[in-house]
This record gives sequence, C-alpha cells and structure tokens, in this order.
Amino acid sequence: MKITINGIEREVDPSRSLLHICEEAGIRVPTLCYDERMKPEGACRLCVMEDKKRDELVVSCATFPKEGMVIETDSERVHKSRKGTLDLLFSNHPNDCLTCGASGACKLQDYCYEYGVLDGSYRSGAQRKAPVDTSNKFYDFDPYKCILCGKCYRMCQEVQCTDAIGLSNRGFTTKIATPMEEGLANSRCVSCGNCVAVCPTGALLPKNQNFRYFDVKKTRTTCSFCGVGCQIDILTKNEKIVGVEPHLGTKANDGLLCVKGRFSWHFVQHPDRLKEPLIKENGRFREASWEEALDLVASRMKQIKQDHGPDAIAGFSSARCTNEDNYLFQKLLRAGVGTNNVDHCARL
Ligand code: SF4
Ligand code: SF4
Ligand code: SF4
Repeated sequence: MKITINGIEREVDPSRSLLHICEEAGIRVPTLCYDERMKPEGACRLCVMEDKKRDELVVSCATFPKEGMVIETDSERVHKSRKGTLDLLFSNHPNDCLTCGASGACKLQDYCYEYGVLDGSYRSGAQRKAPVDTSNKFYDFDPYKCILCGKCYRMCQEVQCTDAIGLSNRGFTTKIATPMEEGLANSRCVSCGNCVAVCPTGALLPKNQNFRYFDVKKTRTTCSFCGVGCQIDILTKNEKIVGVEPHLGTKANDGLLCVKGRFSWHFVQHPDRLKEPLIKENGRFREASWEEALDLVASRMKQIKQDHGPDAIAGFSSARCTNEDNYLFQKLLRAGVGTNNVDHCARL
C-alpha cells in the first residue's frame, strides 16, 4: 500500500498504525498515553495528524493507513491541536515543576515547553484536586498531577495482569481508583511499580523521591535479587544510589520489575549491612577476616565429615547467586565434600 507522509510517497505495511509507520520512518510524534506493550488507547490526543484527503485530524496510534492517504504530521493545524490539548491538560494541573520529583523526566513538562504552554489558559475553571494517596509503602499517587492518560491501569491490567486499579466515574470526575475506592494499601496491588514506571508525569512517584532527574546518573546493570536477569538502571547522585528504574527494550524484562527489583535498593547503603564475616564465640558475634572465617568453616566441615561421614553435611545455595556460583557450590558439595545433599532456595 502507498501513502504520502509530509509530501513523500512511501510503501507501508497496512497492519502498522500511522504512529508506527512514522516512528519507523524517523518522524518524531509526541505521545503521552502510547506504549507499544499495550493496546492503543487514543486517550491523550497528542499524536494527532492531519488526513488531508478527509480534511480531518486522526489519532495516529489507533489509525491504520488506507491506499492513497495523504498525511501531514506537523502542519499548523496539527500544532494548534496539540498545543490546545496541552493547554487543557496543564490548566488542570499544579504548576509545580520546580519542586516536582518528576521534573526532568516528565513528558508533560517536555511537551509544554516544546509547544510553548507556559501556564494553563483555563486555570480559573474547576480543578480536579484530591488528596495524595500515600497508603502504598513504596509509591504515592497524586491525583492532581494525573492527566488520565490511562497508562497505569492498562499496564496493571494488560501487562502486569494484577488489575488493581482502573478508571472510575465519568466526565470531569473521572479518576484512577482502586475497586470500591478502598485505597492502594487495601487493594490487590503487589507494589511492582510498573504503573509508576509508565506514568508520564509526577502523578505516580516512588516515595520520598527528592532528586531532580537533571542531577542523576543512570547506570545499566542486572538486578541481583533473583536469577531472571532483569535489566535495571541504577540512579546515582553524588556517588549514592537514589533509585532504580526498569530498562526498556530488553529480552528479560522489557521495562518491567517486581517490588524487590524496583524498590528494595536501600540495603546497599544501609548502615546495618554486613560488610565483614562474623564468627560467633560464647554466644556473641565478632568481626573476622575472610581468611579466618573460611578456614574455620573448612576445618569444621572436615571434622564433621571425619566424625559422621559426608552425608552429615548439607548445603543450601541462593537464587541471588549467579548460575556459575551455584554450579561451583554444588561441585564443592558433590566433589569436594562427597554428598548429594545440596539444594537451592528457588527449587520449589
Ligand atoms: S508532573 Fe510534570 S508538569 Fe506536572 S508538576 Fe511535575 S514535572 Fe511539572
Ligand atoms: S504497583 Fe503494580 S500491581 Fe500495583 S497498581 Fe501499579 S502496576 Fe498494579
Ligand atoms: S496516574 Fe499517571 S499513568 Fe495513570 S492515568 Fe494518571 S498520568 Fe496516566
């Protein structure tokens, strides 16, 4: 099928949306509600394009090409529509960017800047203000910063499959809510934070997030909580970890995490973290060197084997170790000690 985009005729795949086709052609299209891991919603109306033949604006994430279509992606009409949409959104939104935890990673902020929306023209009208829901242990939800793009509940329903949140009410009173509005703490939310990761504004934010994205460095690494190998970005500021975010576009997790991977990074810098081996003597622990601790374990294992045989010894390894570590551990037990008493916390 052939269509014309911005004056250039292109051969296109009719099963791809106009948004996909443009992205593949390197044409940038603004979106607030689109995520290719979920069905298109057409909620934010920012990806509109002009269909010149039908003389109308179409929502490109949910519109598919037709033979001979003539599309303009950045005409004056398109620009005016996008700016008007952003104006409406920002009119019902706090002008809080200077202190907002999402500043620097907020798509609404970026697009308002790009389209010249410095403040909402309709701010004197009704506002959808409501108290911040702080009931979840790991993240907060600020309804006033919510632009009802629907990404969070679609993530929770379609990808995470927990179905903890959804849209409630209609018209101006529409909001993101839990069933029976019992609050996040009483919902079936498993605190994976995948809704937080897709929120394009500061409406959903990890608790106590008080850095600006401009000030943090991102380092890609592998989550060490289990053997799945989820790819994460560690956020650091002044050499300290200040957060973890999922890394998009990877085979293992493609932008998803569980509660541990996403929110349990504080142990790294916790003052109570064990940094040296401990040996218990007379009922009390004392710090020891690795050499002393390993020598003690080796001598005790030898003694037990000599007195009671190798099957008096058993080893349990951890899902937090690498495959290579776990391979060596079972080898130590089987070949070194001479027992098959070896197990793993993730076996069952
Ligand atoms: S959510 Fe975005 S636009 Fe709103 S205050 Fe925060 S940074 Fe600014
Ligand atoms: S944290 Fe996870 S389970 Fe809870 S609402 Fe968000 S996506 Fe759903
Ligand atoms: S909380 Fe965030 S992701 Fe959910 S609808 Fe509001 S703006 Fe969109």
